[in-house]
Amino acid sequence: MPVQSAIVNAPSYKALAASGELADRVAALRALLAPCRLCPADCRRDRLAGRVGKCRVRGAIVAAATAHFGEEPEVSGTRGSGTLFFRSCNLHCVYCQNHAISQSSGVGRLPPDPASAIADRMLEVAARGCHNVNWVTPSHVVPWAAEALAIAASRGLDLPIVYNSGGYDGIETIRLLDGIVDVWLPDIRYSDDEEARRLSGIEGYVAASRAAVLEMSRQVGPRNVPGADGTIRRGLIVRLLVLPSDLAGVRETLSWLKSEVGTGVRIALMAQYYPAHRAAAEPLLTRPVGVREYMRVVEHAERLGFEDALVQEPAASEFYRPDFDRGAEPFADASAPR
Ligand code: SF4
Repeated sequence: MPVQSAIVNAPSYKALAASGELADRVAALRALLAPCRLCPADCRRDRLAGRVGKCRVRGAIVAAATAHFGEEPEVSGTRGSGTLFFRSCNLHCVYCQNHAISQSSGVGRLPPDPASAIADRMLEVAARGCHNVNWVTPSHVVPWAAEALAIAASRGLDLPIVYNSGGYDGIETIRLLDGIVDVWLPDIRYSDDEEARRLSGIEGYVAASRAAVLEMSRQVGPRNVPGADGTIRRGLIVRLLVLPSDLAGVRETLSWLKSEVGTGVRIALMAQYYPAHRAAAEPLLTRPVGVREYMRVVEHAERLGFEDALVQEPAASEFYRPDFDRGAEPFADASAPR
């Protein structure tokens, strides 16, 4: 049920934890692992028995946890967003900026109790004063993340949970997270399945990402809700990464958003693409996005009447290049403007 008050301070998972519902949801999410149909890849491998699917990880591993200042202003606030970067991914984007952790296999490195290890990292970023706990790339590890939340909540965690995904999310998974996740932060990467297949190695992306965003919007309602400190406590922000030569089809996605979600939805038009990972092998992806092609997208959003768009500096590709060899602090320029 959407929260209608102007300000929200208690995350709804606290009530779910108190009633026992959170434990039931964790059990239902775990059932999706055997055989695994957690995400639209629908690999059907028994991950509880140690099999791996296309995401190449048995359980859940946090590759890095940090206070991140490069998210949307209402997510980062002044004290940072408590980002937990999960290892591996259910997307295999040739241009992935986090490829050092997302495209390496997590097989064989599992901690003995993954959920407790994740809970420790959640409490660690909370102790640093972060405004929220931000699950980055959680689509393939949701049951462990939810179980970790139950543990962390029992140990006092009361920060909002941000779900920061590539948009390739299973609809049943997203439904089971109703009231667990406070802030949905999905990408819609493509408006064409062929590009999604070619550049990210996945099938059926367009329908899956759109169905997920519709469900996320249904859960949190039409308007984002701030907390007393001005950061977001509940809501939806849809990220649209502009790729060179319109490969992401952002203008088409904007038209779909207008028709199905409405122009009141918060959107982040992202100019920060730069060629990383295996992008050099794709002739159209070997350069950053040009100012004119980015501005064409911004102007299209304005023409369609979007009321709440975050527009980046065209030089955004210079900022926030993660280096996971830096260990706990992958973003050297974390205080720079986005
Ligand atoms: S979460 Fe991983 S194993 Fe499960 S369906 Fe998705 S890609 Fe396959």
